[in-house]
Amino acid sequence: MDEFALIAEYFAGDAGAVLGIGDDAALVEVPLGQQLAVAVDTLVAGRHFPEATPPEAIGHRALAVNLSDLAAMGATPHWYTLALTLPEAEPTWLAGFSKGLRSLGAAHGCALIGGDTTRGSLTVTVQVMGAVTAPALTRGGACPGDRVFVGGFLGDAAGGLNDAAQGLHSALASRFHYPQPQLALGQALRHVATACIDVSDGFVADLNHVLRASGVGAEIDLESLPLSPELVASVGHEAAQRLALSGGDDYVLCFTVPAEARAACLSACHEVGRITTEPGLRLRDRDGAFIEEVVDGYRHF
Ligand code: ADP
Ligand code: MG
Repeated sequence: MDEFALIAEYFAGDAGAVLGIGDDAALVEVPLGQQLAVAVDTLVAGRHFPEATPPEAIGHRALAVNLSDLAAMGATPHWYTLALTLPEAEPTWLAGFSKGLRSLGAAHGCALIGGDTTRGSLTVTVQVMGAVTAPALTRGGACPGDRVFVGGFLGDAAGGLNDAAQGLHSALASRFHYPQPQLALGQALRHVATACIDVSDGFVADLNHVLRASGVGAEIDLESLPLSPELVASVGHEAAQRLALSGGDDYVLCFTVPAEARAACLSACHEVGRITTEPGLRLRDRDGAFIEEVVDGYRHF
Protein backbone atom coordinates (compact mmCIF):
# COMPACT_ATOMS: atom_id res chain seq x y z
CA MET A 1 0.00 0.00 0.00
CA ASP A 2 1.50 3.37 -0.95
CA GLU A 3 1.59 6.32 1.40
CA PHE A 4 -1.36 8.14 -0.13
CA ALA A 5 -3.60 5.07 -0.23
CA LEU A 6 -2.71 4.47 3.41
CA ILE A 7 -3.65 8.03 4.39
CA ALA A 8 -6.91 7.84 2.43
CA GLU A 9 -7.83 4.48 3.96
CA TYR A 10 -7.00 5.09 7.62
CA PHE A 11 -6.73 8.80 8.32
CA ALA A 12 -8.77 10.93 5.90
CA GLY A 13 -12.42 11.89 6.10
CA ASP A 14 -12.91 14.00 9.23
CA ALA A 15 -14.84 17.24 8.80
CA GLY A 16 -14.18 20.22 11.05
CA ALA A 17 -11.53 22.26 9.22
CA VAL A 18 -11.89 24.85 6.47
CA LEU A 19 -9.47 22.61 4.55
CA GLY A 20 -8.39 19.22 5.92
CA ILE A 21 -6.17 16.38 4.71
CA GLY A 22 -4.94 16.53 1.10
CA ASP A 23 -3.33 19.90 0.57
CA ASP A 24 0.02 21.26 1.74
CA ALA A 25 -1.43 22.58 4.97
CA ALA A 26 -4.76 22.47 6.73
CA LEU A 27 -6.76 25.65 7.25
CA VAL A 28 -8.80 26.24 10.37
CA GLU A 29 -10.92 29.07 11.70
CA VAL A 30 -10.36 29.85 15.38
CA PRO A 31 -13.66 30.88 17.01
CA LEU A 32 -13.83 34.66 17.18
CA GLY A 33 -12.46 36.14 20.38
CA GLN A 34 -10.92 32.88 21.63
CA GLN A 35 -7.29 31.91 22.09
CA LEU A 36 -5.70 28.96 20.26
CA ALA A 37 -4.50 26.25 22.72
CA VAL A 38 -1.81 23.96 21.26
CA ALA A 39 -0.09 20.90 22.74
CA VAL A 40 2.06 18.11 21.30
CA ASP A 41 3.27 14.80 22.70
CA THR A 42 5.35 11.97 21.25
CA LEU A 43 4.96 8.31 22.18
CA VAL A 44 7.96 6.09 21.42
CA ALA A 45 7.39 2.31 21.35
CA GLY A 46 9.18 0.57 24.21
CA ARG A 47 9.59 3.82 26.09
CA HIS A 48 6.11 5.30 26.50
CA PHE A 49 4.20 2.07 25.98
CA PRO A 50 5.21 -1.61 26.05
CA GLU A 51 5.79 -3.34 22.71
CA ALA A 52 2.80 -5.61 23.56
CA THR A 53 0.36 -2.67 23.59
CA PRO A 54 -2.65 -3.29 21.30
CA PRO A 55 -2.67 -0.89 18.30
CA GLU A 56 -6.10 0.44 19.31
CA ALA A 57 -4.70 1.44 22.70
CA ILE A 58 -1.68 3.12 21.09
CA GLY A 59 -4.00 5.21 18.92
CA HIS A 60 -6.23 6.07 21.87
CA ARG A 61 -3.36 7.01 24.17
CA ALA A 62 -1.58 9.13 21.58
CA LEU A 63 -4.58 11.43 21.35
CA ALA A 64 -5.75 11.07 24.98
CA VAL A 65 -2.50 12.38 26.47
CA ASN A 66 -2.80 15.47 24.28
CA LEU A 67 -6.49 16.02 24.99
CA SER A 68 -5.61 15.81 28.67
CA ASP A 69 -3.24 18.78 28.24
CA LEU A 70 -6.07 20.83 26.75
CA ALA A 71 -8.38 19.68 29.57
CA ALA A 72 -5.87 21.07 32.07
CA MET A 73 -6.09 24.48 30.36
CA GLY A 74 -9.90 24.47 30.35
CA ALA A 75 -9.77 24.47 26.54
CA THR A 76 -12.11 22.80 24.04
CA PRO A 77 -10.32 20.59 21.48
CA HIS A 78 -11.13 21.09 17.78
CA TRP A 79 -8.34 19.67 15.59
CA TYR A 80 -5.32 17.39 15.70
CA THR A 81 -2.47 16.34 13.44
CA LEU A 82 -0.62 13.02 13.43
CA ALA A 83 3.05 12.40 12.62
CA LEU A 84 3.36 8.63 12.34
CA THR A 85 6.60 6.70 11.94
CA LEU A 86 6.03 3.02 11.15
CA PRO A 87 8.34 0.07 10.50
CA GLU A 88 5.84 -1.28 7.93
CA ALA A 89 2.33 -0.59 6.64
CA GLU A 90 0.52 -3.52 8.22
CA PRO A 91 -3.27 -3.28 7.55
CA THR A 92 -4.45 -5.00 10.76
CA TRP A 93 -2.21 -2.79 12.87
CA LEU A 94 -3.25 0.37 11.01
CA ALA A 95 -6.95 -0.47 11.28
CA GLY A 96 -6.71 -0.94 15.05
CA PHE A 97 -4.56 2.15 15.55
CA SER A 98 -6.85 4.30 13.42
CA LYS A 99 -9.94 3.04 15.26
CA GLY A 100 -8.53 3.84 18.71
CA LEU A 101 -7.31 7.26 17.61
CA ARG A 102 -10.31 8.38 15.62
CA SER A 103 -13.05 7.10 17.88
CA LEU A 104 -11.61 9.15 20.75
CA GLY A 105 -11.35 12.17 18.41
CA ALA A 106 -14.96 11.71 17.34
CA ALA A 107 -16.10 11.37 20.96
CA HIS A 108 -14.69 14.81 21.70
CA GLY A 109 -15.53 16.54 18.41
CA CYS A 110 -11.83 16.74 17.51
CA ALA A 111 -10.97 16.28 13.81
CA LEU A 112 -7.81 14.79 12.27
CA ILE A 113 -6.77 17.48 9.79
CA GLY A 114 -3.26 16.53 8.66
CA GLY A 115 -0.03 14.80 9.44
CA ASP A 116 3.03 13.09 8.10
CA THR A 117 3.82 9.43 7.46
CA THR A 118 7.34 8.05 7.50
CA ARG A 119 9.13 4.72 7.80
CA GLY A 120 11.20 3.91 10.89
CA SER A 121 10.79 2.51 14.39
CA LEU A 122 7.29 3.01 15.75
CA THR A 123 6.83 6.58 16.99
CA VAL A 124 3.56 8.47 17.24
CA THR A 125 3.38 12.24 17.58
CA VAL A 126 0.01 13.95 17.95
CA GLN A 127 -0.46 17.68 18.10
CA VAL A 128 -3.81 18.90 19.31
CA MET A 129 -5.32 22.34 18.84
CA GLY A 130 -8.29 23.81 20.62
CA ALA A 131 -9.80 27.08 21.72
CA VAL A 132 -10.35 28.75 25.04
CA THR A 133 -11.91 32.03 26.08
CA ALA A 134 -9.33 33.91 28.15
CA PRO A 135 -8.31 33.45 30.85
CA ALA A 136 -7.32 29.81 30.41
CA LEU A 137 -6.50 27.67 33.44
CA THR A 138 -2.76 27.56 34.11
CA ARG A 139 -0.35 26.08 36.63
CA GLY A 140 0.20 29.48 38.24
CA GLY A 141 -2.46 31.00 40.49
CA ALA A 142 -2.77 28.65 43.48
CA CYS A 143 -3.07 30.71 46.70
CA PRO A 144 -2.43 29.86 50.37
CA GLY A 145 -5.66 28.50 51.83
CA ASP A 146 -6.83 26.97 48.53
CA ARG A 147 -7.84 23.30 48.63
CA VAL A 148 -6.09 20.73 46.44
CA PHE A 149 -8.29 18.35 44.47
CA VAL A 150 -7.81 15.46 42.04
CA GLY A 151 -10.36 14.41 39.46
CA GLY A 152 -10.11 10.64 39.86
CA PHE A 153 -8.18 7.62 41.10
CA LEU A 154 -4.39 7.89 41.27
CA GLY A 155 -1.90 5.10 40.64
CA ASP A 156 -4.06 2.81 38.51
CA ALA A 157 -2.14 3.27 35.27
CA ALA A 158 1.21 2.62 36.97
CA GLY A 159 -0.38 -0.36 38.73
CA GLY A 160 -1.52 -1.69 35.35
CA LEU A 161 1.79 -1.29 33.57
CA ASN A 162 3.04 -4.79 34.39
CA ASP A 163 -0.19 -6.35 33.14
CA ALA A 164 0.00 -4.19 30.01
CA ALA A 165 3.60 -5.25 29.38
CA GLN A 166 2.57 -8.92 29.61
CA GLY A 167 -0.35 -8.37 27.25
CA LEU A 168 -2.94 -9.06 29.99
CA HIS A 169 -6.36 -7.41 29.75
CA SER A 170 -7.03 -6.48 33.39
CA ALA A 171 -9.02 -3.48 34.66
CA LEU A 172 -5.74 -1.78 35.65
CA ALA A 173 -4.12 -2.51 32.27
CA SER A 174 -7.07 -0.80 30.62
CA ARG A 175 -6.55 2.25 32.84
CA PHE A 176 -3.04 2.40 31.33
CA HIS A 177 -4.23 1.67 27.78
CA TYR A 178 -7.33 3.88 27.70
CA PRO A 179 -6.89 7.03 29.81
CA GLN A 180 -9.99 9.24 29.73
CA PRO A 181 -9.05 12.92 29.38
CA GLN A 182 -11.17 15.05 31.75
CA LEU A 183 -12.25 17.67 29.24
CA ALA A 184 -15.68 18.41 30.72
CA LEU A 185 -14.13 18.82 34.16
CA GLY A 186 -11.43 21.19 32.84
CA GLN A 187 -14.02 23.35 31.12
CA ALA A 188 -16.23 23.39 34.23
CA LEU A 189 -13.24 24.51 36.32
CA ARG A 190 -12.71 27.73 34.37
CA HIS A 191 -13.59 30.60 36.74
CA VAL A 192 -13.51 28.10 39.64
CA ALA A 193 -9.99 26.65 39.87
CA THR A 194 -7.04 28.91 40.65
CA ALA A 195 -4.54 26.46 39.06
CA CYS A 196 -4.73 23.19 37.17
CA ILE A 197 -2.47 20.47 35.71
CA ASP A 198 -3.05 16.97 34.38
CA VAL A 199 -1.29 14.13 36.22
CA SER A 200 1.00 12.59 33.60
CA ASP A 201 4.31 12.13 35.40
CA GLY A 202 2.90 11.36 38.85
CA PHE A 203 0.86 13.28 41.46
CA VAL A 204 3.82 14.58 43.49
CA ALA A 205 5.84 15.60 40.43
CA ASP A 206 2.91 17.32 38.79
CA LEU A 207 1.60 19.03 41.92
CA ASN A 208 5.15 20.32 42.43
CA HIS A 209 4.92 22.01 39.02
CA VAL A 210 1.81 23.84 40.23
CA LEU A 211 3.50 24.80 43.50
CA ARG A 212 6.56 26.20 41.77
CA ALA A 213 4.56 28.04 39.10
CA SER A 214 2.33 29.54 41.82
CA GLY A 215 5.10 30.30 44.35
CA VAL A 216 3.38 28.36 47.15
CA GLY A 217 3.59 25.02 49.00
CA ALA A 218 1.11 22.31 49.96
CA GLU A 219 0.20 19.84 52.67
CA ILE A 220 -1.26 16.59 51.38
CA ASP A 221 -3.12 14.03 53.49
CA LEU A 222 -1.83 10.64 52.44
CA GLU A 223 -5.02 8.85 53.50
CA SER A 224 -7.17 11.12 51.34
CA LEU A 225 -5.54 10.10 48.05
CA PRO A 226 -8.26 8.32 46.05
CA LEU A 227 -7.31 4.67 45.44
CA SER A 228 -9.36 2.33 43.28
CA PRO A 229 -10.53 -0.95 44.84
CA GLU A 230 -8.83 -2.73 41.91
CA LEU A 231 -5.45 -1.16 42.71
CA VAL A 232 -5.67 -1.90 46.44
CA ALA A 233 -6.75 -5.47 45.70
CA SER A 234 -3.87 -5.91 43.28
CA VAL A 235 -0.92 -4.46 45.21
CA GLY A 236 -2.14 -3.76 48.78
CA HIS A 237 -2.86 -0.44 50.50
CA GLU A 238 0.70 0.75 51.10
CA ALA A 239 2.00 0.02 47.60
CA ALA A 240 -1.17 1.58 46.19
CA GLN A 241 -0.43 4.80 48.11
CA ARG A 242 3.11 4.79 46.76
CA LEU A 243 1.85 4.38 43.19
CA ALA A 244 -0.71 7.12 43.79
CA LEU A 245 2.09 9.49 44.82
CA SER A 246 4.66 8.73 42.17
CA GLY A 247 3.12 6.60 39.39
CA GLY A 248 2.45 8.38 36.11
CA ASP A 249 0.03 8.05 33.21
CA ASP A 250 -3.27 8.53 35.10
CA TYR A 251 -4.29 11.67 33.18
CA VAL A 252 -6.70 12.92 35.82
CA LEU A 253 -6.73 16.63 36.63
CA CYS A 254 -5.13 18.04 39.78
CA PHE A 255 -6.39 21.52 40.64
CA THR A 256 -6.71 24.08 43.39
CA VAL A 257 -9.84 25.99 44.39
CA PRO A 258 -10.54 28.71 46.99
CA ALA A 259 -11.98 27.26 50.22
CA GLU A 260 -15.44 28.66 49.45
CA ALA A 261 -15.60 26.66 46.17
CA ARG A 262 -14.66 23.44 47.92
CA ALA A 263 -18.18 22.12 48.56
CA ALA A 264 -19.11 22.35 44.88
CA CYS A 265 -16.12 20.16 43.94
CA LEU A 266 -16.67 17.43 46.51
CA SER A 267 -19.42 15.61 44.62
CA ALA A 268 -17.28 14.79 41.57
CA CYS A 269 -13.70 15.12 42.79
CA HIS A 270 -11.46 14.25 45.75
CA GLU A 271 -9.99 16.77 48.18
CA VAL A 272 -6.43 15.76 49.07
CA GLY A 273 -4.89 18.75 50.85
CA ARG A 274 -4.37 22.49 51.02
CA ILE A 275 -2.06 25.17 49.73
CA THR A 276 0.37 26.81 52.16
CA THR A 277 2.55 29.92 52.12
CA GLU A 278 5.56 27.80 53.08
CA PRO A 279 7.04 26.37 49.87
CA GLY A 280 7.50 22.64 49.22
CA LEU A 281 5.22 19.65 49.43
CA ARG A 282 4.60 18.00 52.81
CA LEU A 283 2.76 14.72 53.36
CA ARG A 284 0.71 14.01 56.47
CA ASP A 285 -0.12 10.52 57.74
CA ARG A 286 -3.53 9.57 59.19
CA ASP A 287 -2.61 11.08 62.58
CA GLY A 288 -1.66 14.37 60.96
CA ALA A 289 2.09 13.88 61.51
CA PHE A 290 4.45 14.86 58.69
CA ILE A 291 6.03 11.98 56.79
CA GLU A 292 9.65 12.21 55.75
CA GLU A 293 9.60 10.77 52.30
CA VAL A 294 11.24 11.44 48.98
CA VAL A 295 8.79 10.78 46.22
CA ASP A 296 8.96 11.98 42.69
CA GLY A 297 7.62 11.21 39.30
CA TYR A 298 8.96 10.05 36.00
CA ARG A 299 11.72 12.05 34.40
CA HIS A 300 12.86 11.39 30.87
CA PHE A 301 16.43 12.62 31.45
P1 ADP B 1 3.59 17.13 2.02
O1 ADP B 1 4.56 16.41 1.13
O2 ADP B 1 3.04 18.39 1.43
O3 ADP B 1 4.08 17.28 3.43
P2 ADP B 1 2.33 14.67 2.48
O4 ADP B 1 2.49 13.89 1.24
O5 ADP B 1 3.23 14.41 3.63
O6 ADP B 1 2.30 16.19 2.08
O7 ADP B 1 0.82 14.49 2.99
C1 ADP B 1 -0.26 14.61 2.11
C2 ADP B 1 -1.48 15.00 2.91
O8 ADP B 1 -1.80 13.96 3.81
C3 ADP B 1 -1.29 16.25 3.76
O9 ADP B 1 -2.53 16.94 3.80
C4 ADP B 1 -0.96 15.70 5.11
O10 ADP B 1 -1.36 16.61 6.14
C5 ADP B 1 -1.76 14.42 5.14
N1 ADP B 1 -1.16 13.35 5.97
C6 ADP B 1 0.02 12.72 5.77
N2 ADP B 1 0.21 11.77 6.69
C7 ADP B 1 -0.87 11.79 7.52
C8 ADP B 1 -1.26 11.07 8.66
N3 ADP B 1 -0.51 10.11 9.20
N4 ADP B 1 -2.44 11.38 9.24
C9 ADP B 1 -3.20 12.36 8.73
N5 ADP B 1 -2.91 13.08 7.65
C10 ADP B 1 -1.75 12.80 7.04
MG1 MG C 1 4.63 15.58 4.64
